[in-house]
Amino acid sequence: MQTTSEKIEGMDVWLYHGQIYIPNTFSAGATGSRFLTTIRDKAKITGTRCKECNRVYVPARSVCKDCFAQLKEWVEVSDKGTVLSYTIDSEPKPIHPTDAPVIYGIIQLDGADTGFVHMIGGADPEQLRIGMRVQAVFKPKEERIGSVLDIKHFKPL
Ligand SMILES: [Zn+2]
Repeated sequence: MQTTSEKIEGMDVWLYHGQIYIPNTFSAGATGSRFLTTIRDKAKITGTRCKECNRVYVPARSVCKDCFAQLKEWVEVSDKGTVLSYTIDSEPKPIHPTDAPVIYGIIQLDGADTGFVHMIGGADPEQLRIGMRVQAVFKPKEERIGSVLDIKHFKPL
């Protein structure tokens, strides 16, 4: 791991830049659990719709971030979507779910109003474009465990 330090100009303070890998565990909650188990059991991606502003959230969430309304209506969205943004991380890191380089994308699935952060796979970095169309690639059913990584990645269309 590469680390650096620097002195703040005009102050008697040094900054140390490092990285800490912190394994952690938290509950996905009822909404997150339903979202994940639907991917695991049905290979379908779902979201929740706000009855006040009609926004569809993917991943599903239980409260609208704008209206604060409770989100109880579930909708199935497409496994196809549009890349809103992406980045390529070429450095191997323990936190990466796959070998580097890893392409992370924010994907707006058809039928959703929000971006879904996941990986783009099977793509030549030169072909990546904002606005490109992609489709989810699910792991085989016997390999799905109830993780967002049950979606292996999104492949270019
Ligand atoms: Zn709302």
